[in-house]
Amino acid sequence: MEVPDNWLKEGNPFEVRREEYAKEVRFGGNIRFEKDPVTGKDKFIQENYESVMAVPYDMPIVGYGNHVVNTLRVWDAKPITDFKLDEFDRGNYHKAVEQENLAKLIVDVLYPNDNHYSGKELRLKQQYFFISASLQALIEKYKKKHGDIRKLHEKVVIQMNDTHPTVAVPELMRLLIDVEGLSWEDAWEVTSKTCAYTNHTIMAEALEKWPIDLFSKLLPRIYQIVQEIDRRFLIKVREMYPGNEEKVRKMAILMNGQVRMANMAIVAGFSVNGVAQLHTEILEKQELKDFYQMMPEKFNNKTNGITQRRFLAHGNPLLADWITDKIGDGWITDLSQIAKLKPLVEDEDARREFMEIKYQNKVRLAKYIKEHNGIDVDPRSIFDIQVKRLHEYKRQLLNILHIMYLYNQIKEHPEMSFYPRTFIFGAKAAAGYLRAKETIKLINSVADVVNNDRSINGKLKVVFIEDYRVSNAEILFAAADVSEQISTASKEASGTGNMKFMLNGAPTLGTMDGANVEIVHEVGEENAFIFGLSSQEVINYENNGGYNPTDVYFNDWEIKRVVDQLMDGTYSNGDHNMYINLYNSLLNTQCTDKADTYFILKDFRSYADAQKRVEEAYRDQQRWSKMAMMNTACSGKFTSDRTIEEYVRDIWHLEKVEVPSGQDLFE
Ligand SMILES: *Cc1c(COP(=O)(O)O)cnc(C)c1O
Repeated sequence: MEVPDNWLKEGNPFEVRREEYAKEVRFGGNIRFEKDPVTGKDKFIQENYESVMAVPYDMPIVGYGNHVVNTLRVWDAKPITDFKLDEFDRGNYHKAVEQENLAKLIVDVLYPNDNHYSGKELRLKQQYFFISASLQALIEKYKKKHGDIRKLHEKVVIQMNDTHPTVAVPELMRLLIDVEGLSWEDAWEVTSKTCAYTNHTIMAEALEKWPIDLFSKLLPRIYQIVQEIDRRFLIKVREMYPGNEEKVRKMAILMNGQVRMANMAIVAGFSVNGVAQLHTEILEKQELKDFYQMMPEKFNNKTNGITQRRFLAHGNPLLADWITDKIGDGWITDLSQIAKLKPLVEDEDARREFMEIKYQNKVRLAKYIKEHNGIDVDPRSIFDIQVKRLHEYKRQLLNILHIMYLYNQIKEHPEMSFYPRTFIFGAKAAAGYLRAKETIKLINSVADVVNNDRSINGKLKVVFIEDYRVSNAEILFAAADVSEQISTASKEASGTGNMKFMLNGAPTLGTMDGANVEIVHEVGEENAFIFGLSSQEVINYENNGGYNPTDVYFNDWEIKRVVDQLMDGTYSNGDHNMYINLYNSLLNTQCTDKADTYFILKDFRSYADAQKRVEEAYRDQQRWSKMAMMNTACSGKFTSDRTIEEYVRDIWHLEKVEVPSGQDLFE
C-alpha cells in the first residue's frame, strides 16, 4: 500500500519563491489563423483556452569544495486570479473555479511509474506545464544576456532526460515561430541544434505514445507543429528510401493514432545517447536500427555513474575513512584514484580490516532490521541484497523462487552443509501494478514462513525493507555481501544500484545486462558471479519464439515443486488463489507464448548454480575478501563525475572553469 508523501506540508526553507519570473501556460481551446495585415506573416492565435501561472522556486545546490552553488528551479502552479474576465468572460465564475482546480491538479501528485507509461491526460498536462514554463524562462534569460535568438544553440543545450520532457521540441518551435517571429526553417535550425535526447529503456511500454485525439485537444498549436515536423521528416525518409513504406511506418512520429515522443526526440535532436555500452549497442543494432542507419552521427553512449560523495563518503563513513587512511582523500573528487587500493588486495592485514568494516556495517543494518521489522538476523550470515524498483524485468520473482527452492532443500536434507544466508529485499511497486504488488506479498509470505520455522536453525532469513529510499539505501549498500543484479538480459538499460554495491565492496551476482557488462570488464569475471541467457539469446527468442516454459517445468522437478508451491497454499495459509496471477505469469498453459516473458524458469538453473558458486566462494574468506576489495578498487569508472564530463565534452561542448574561492579573490 502506498500513502501520500506530503513533502511540502511544512514548507521548504531551502527554496526561494521568484514571483517576478512567473510564466503563463495555456491549455486547450482552438487555434485561429490569420495573416498579419502589416507584415503579411502567418499568425496562429490560441482562443478559448484555460491557463495557469507557473511560479518558480529556486533551490541552492552546493558543490563539493568547488566554490560553486548552482540553482535547481522547480515550479508551482497558481490560478491566474486577475485573468481577463473583462474581455468576454465577465462574471464567468465557473471558469475562474476551473482554472483554480486545474492549477491545484497539475502539481498535486507525481506519477511514480518507472519503466512503464500510463497515457493519462494529467501527466501530459504536467509535462507541458513544466516544459513551457522552463523554456519561456530559458529564452527570457538568454535574450537578456545575448540578444540574438537565432544563436540560441551557441549558448544552450536542452538535454531531454527520457521521453518525459520531449514536448520541448514542438514547444521550442512554437516559441521561436509564434512569439519570436522566426520562419519555420530558422526555428528548426535552432531547435535541432539545441535539443539532445537520452534514451533510458528499450521496453516499448515505457516509451510515451500519446493518443492523437488527447494530444491535439490539450495542445492544439503544439499538435500542428508536430504534424509539420512529421510531414517534413517523412519527405526525407521517402527521398532516402524510395518506395520503402515499411521504413515510413517504423520511423514516423504520427502513426496509428499516436504521437510517438521518442521518434520526435530522435528526429529533432542532434544527439541520441544510451546509458551503457550494451544498451547503446542494442539501440543501434536493434531497437533504433532504422534511425541509426539514417543518422549514425547522432548516436553515442554515456555510461551512467553514481556519486561517491553520497554512496561512500556519506553512506559508509567507516570504509571512507579507511580508504582515505590508505590512499589519501583524492578519491572523493577523482574516483579513478580508488584504483590505488589494488595493490592492497594482496595485503592480508588490509583485507582483514576491510572485512571488519563490512562486518560493522552488517551489524548496523541488523540493528535497522531489528528496529523496523522485528527480525533477528545474524551479521555473520551472507547478506544477499536486491533493492530496486519492483518490476517483472528485474526478476525479484526469480530471487524469491530460488529462496523457496533453498528452503525446500534445507527441509529435505537437514544434514546438508549450508552457509547461513540472509536475503534482503527493498522495492516500491507502481500503484496499479498488480503483479509487482503480489511479488511483494509473496516475499513477505515466504519471510513469515521461513523466519518462523525453528527447525531450520536460522540458516535462512528473509527480510523485506519497507519504504526503500536513498536514506536507508545507504545503509543497505554498505552492508551488502552480494549485489543481486538479475534482470532479463537486454532489459536493464544500465542500472546504477549495481555501481553503488560495487563501490561498497559487494561482488555482483548478475546477468550480462546493462552496466553489469562494464562492471565485469573492470573487475574481472573471476570477481563476479555471472549467469543466464545473453541479451542476444533473449532477443532471438523474442523474435523467433522457441521457448516454452512448460518444458522447463516438466523436466526439472525441483523447479516444478517451487512453482506448484505458489498454488498449494504453502505460503498463503491454504489459500490456493492468492498467487494465481504470479503462477499464470510463468506458466499459463492455455497461452504458452505469453508465459514467462522474462525467462525466469529458463534462467532458474543457471541462477541456482551461480548462487551455489557464491556460497563456495564465501566459505573461503581469504578469497572472498580479495573479491570484495577488488570490487571497490575497480569501481573508478562508475562515478557520475566521469559521466557528466563525457556529456560536457561530447554533447554540451562546455569549457571547464575553476571558480576561485572568496578568499582567493580577496588575495
Ligand atoms: C540507485 C537507486 C535506484 C536504482 O537502482 P537500480 O538497481 O539501478 O534499479 C532506485 N532507488 C534508489 C533509492 C536508489 O538509491
